[in-house]
Amino acid sequence: MSSHAGAVSQLVDRLSQLPGIGRKSAERLAFHLLRVREDEALALADAIRRVRTDVRYCANCYNLSEKELCQICSDPNRDATRLCVVEQPRDLLSLEASGAYKGLYHVLLGRIAPLDGITPDQLTIDSLVERVRTGTFTEIIMATNPTVEGDGTSLYLSNQLSEFPVEITRLARGITAGSVLEYANREIIADALTGRQKL
Ligand SMILES: [Zn+2]
Repeated sequence: MSSHAGAVSQLVDRLSQLPGIGRKSAERLAFHLLRVREDEALALADAIRRVRTDVRYCANCYNLSEKELCQICSDPNRDATRLCVVEQPRDLLSLEASGAYKGLYHVLLGRIAPLDGITPDQLTIDSLVERVRTGTFTEIIMATNPTVEGDGTSLYLSNQLSEFPVEITRLARGITAGSVLEYANREIIADALTGRQKL
């Protein structure tokens, strides 16, 4: 890389730190950005800046949002009797894309993973419990990923919520154990939702 001008080699360095981008891809991207129209390249820089300055977590459900409350929480047409618990905002996106769910969400921002040092207090569990305590929910749907840690997290949550008069369900196992919600297709997610079972 020593033959590249400083700015180019800095960009290649930055890009190669992104997940899934090796050195070769980083070089390809950098030269692509040098080739396209200047406004196109700068639009990417702008999008990165905006996502970091304008996007935050919804104060209610921890979905990504540009306002205090996300679009879903501020939509009066959503079914406020159902609450679907997911690990990450991208899981919420997968469920939304299926079009099969009209209730509200709660994003944990992770899963309990003792081996990685992730304990319940690092997730948004306290505010989940508070929402169930004060909300109008009759069903809580566990949509954590079908992994050992995802299942463990569901189990932990259903214990935490057992004192409330809500039915606790989980997605049907149409999604193969170990696969990740994020990559499942629409039909599978819709099936998993309609076939949900009591936990
Ligand atoms: Zn929200």
